[in-house]
Amino acid sequence: PDQWYGTAEPSTAAPMWQPEDGPVSLSPSTIEILETCPLRWVFERHGGSDGDNTHAIAGTLVHTLVQALAGRIPPDQVEKALENAWESIDLGSQWYSRRELNRTREMLATFTAWMNATRGELTEVGVEVAVEGVLEPREEGAPAVKLRGRIDRLERDTEGRPVVVDVKTARNPVSNEAAQSHAQLAAYQVAAAEGAIAGEPATQPGGARLVFVAKSNKKDGAAQRVQPPLTAEAVEMWRDVIHNAAAATQGPQYLARVNDGCRHCPVRSSCPAHDEGRQVSN
Ligand code: SF4
Repeated sequence: PDQWYGTAEPSTAAPMWQPEDGPVSLSPSTIEILETCPLRWVFERHGGSDGDNTHAIAGTLVHTLVQALAGRIPPDQVEKALENAWESIDLGSQWYSRRELNRTREMLATFTAWMNATRGELTEVGVEVAVEGVLEPREEGAPAVKLRGRIDRLERDTEGRPVVVDVKTARNPVSNEAAQSHAQLAAYQVAAAEGAIAGEPATQPGGARLVFVAKSNKKDGAAQRVQPPLTAEAVEMWRDVIHNAAAATQGPQYLARVNDGCRHCPVRSSCPAHDEGRQVSN
């Protein structure tokens, strides 16, 4: 970057925060991003993304509607709400909008199929359940971490343990191996173990799942990826990961960590780990 044309001097070299500023607030999804690439996190967090695109808006809509379906709102009312909301989403051409609307309907049907297929093993505790709790520092001088977030669905398994379910609208599910080391899911399990899930005592977690509603599956209704229950040792290991993620937000240097998501990274043109870039001034 020293040799890039048109780049200004850094406005500051000060870190983003000091340990005495208090706990560092992190959501489980942020921990996942920080684990993957701290530079992407800092750029996106500070103006480097273009805001929500229409796919993100459609994804949010699906999340809202699956909560409505889970809330026993009749499917015809959910369908009506979908049609009304769809009128305000501009997807460009009509054929594309129709196709995406059908795809969204299919996602809702897939979610319903997943719910029906899993009721024998899971019992719903709540939807949009708040996560809030403070993880105390592990070393002197390090800050505490305030875990904050919202769980799409909280369920209970047949042994009464909490199971966190995160609904995903991406077309391509992650691999089974990736789900086992998925930082967002692990952070939710740590929250369960630490008593940071609203209305739940600290307890051994029953695992966590990603439910990919864009991909139906005969056995489970939707493609799901399961992270097994974390053992006490694994909870400790993931607590370290969470504290390391918090430390990675401090700066002033942020690591560009090349990963599978680089192809779709919105800040790739500003990334020193890749050759291409674009001119920023004339
Ligand atoms: S392109 Fe890859 S390495 Fe660069 S900021 Fe984006 S995710 Fe990180």
